[in-house]
Amino acid sequence: MPALDLKAEVEKLLHDNKLNLCFECGKCSAVCPMLDFYGEYNYDRSPRGVVERLSLDPEKIEDESLWYCLTCQACTFFCPSGIDFQSFMTDLRELLLKNGFKKHAFFCSVCGRYFMPKKELEYIKKILDGKKSCEYMYVCPECRKKDYAEILHRVAHWPKQSIKKA
Ligand code: SF4
Ligand code: SF4
Repeated sequence: MPALDLKAEVEKLLHDNKLNLCFECGKCSAVCPMLDFYGEYNYDRSPRGVVERLSLDPEKIEDESLWYCLTCQACTFFCPSGIDFQSFMTDLRELLLKNGFKKHAFFCSVCGRYFMPKKELEYIKKILDGKKSCEYMYVCPECRKKDYAEILHRVAHWPKQSIKKA
């Protein structure tokens, strides 16, 4: 059961991201890529479902359905009420992680930082179907960039070293 101040922080996030302005037009669900990505529709994971549930019960935050959103911003772009659901989900997940709710999150295997919900990773792995590129999914974009930069430096120095040796 979450602490009282956590409940208040969830309510603040709902308020700050204007989620109380939702008038249930359904545009967000229509443009959301979750259906195509996960291959099934689930109202609880949709923006309206999340808004409805958390507005009625801000303590219901251990639910796995809060970790399905792909934070793509499509719903934010089309929402006629200006609700920034993507920012809300990002802030909410940060809040959950800060308070120790980590079981649905995946952390970089190099630096240990959070970078993706486990569900999202699972489905990407399924799409990649065990290909070599799967290994990269365990490393966050920052660490991947560092790795790439190191490879570039090695490649950039390689001809000079070879010329010197020759
Ligand atoms: S598009 Fe905006 S107003 Fe419409 S249901 Fe979604 S969040 Fe609510
Ligand atoms: S931000 Fe999340 S809820 Fe909004 S369209 Fe993208 S996946 Fe769907």
